[in-house]
Amino acid sequence: MKGFDEVVGFHGHACPGLALGYMVARYVMEEFGARATDEELVAIVENNSCAVDAIQVVTGCTFGKGNLIFMDYGKQVYTFLNRPTGDAIRLSVIWEGIPESAEEKQMWQRYMSGDRSEDVLRVVHQRKAKKTEAILNAPFDQIFRVQRMILQPPPLAGIYPSVRCESCGEKVMETKARLREGKLLCIPCAEGYRR
Ligand SMILES: [Zn+2]
Ligand SMILES: [Zn+2]
Repeated sequence: MKGFDEVVGFHGHACPGLALGYMVARYVMEEFGARATDEELVAIVENNSCAVDAIQVVTGCTFGKGNLIFMDYGKQVYTFLNRPTGDAIRLSVIWEGIPESAEEKQMWQRYMSGDRSEDVLRVVHQRKAKKTEAILNAPFDQIFRVQRMILQPPPLAGIYPSVRCESCGEKVMETKARLREGKLLCIPCAEGYRR
């Protein structure tokens, strides 16, 4: 299984959000076994935070393969579905955090009001590292709640032919082309976004 260092390598930095996503993904890998090489495993993510990068690296459910479905709900909920069987696991993050010292509280307030002085940054970064470490070492049941269910698998990612936009001449996937006054156009041309 991919380690946290590989996840950090992809994401660019270590952070609590990434650690949460990593723990979710690790649990799912233990449950479902193999990382998705194709579309047999599907992830439905209800936010687009740092956590989703860890999920992509560890589970192989990626934006490009079409087996990562983003629902813009702003919730820390991740559902994984085994396409052949419909078996699904829904993980809802319940992590309560770690206690904060008076200094940390005060520094965080200064940070939030725009203070980027050295002592503020030092405490804020230390706090972040401490949180990340705490998440990576916490038992699964302190991080999230698990529900099991059977779900109807979403349709497979389609492969469609391309057509040429009659305005800009660029190719566009057929199902995304729009008909405007008898002309087949790409969305930016149809909606006037194209400069
Ligand atoms: Zn991050
Ligand atoms: Zn066009």
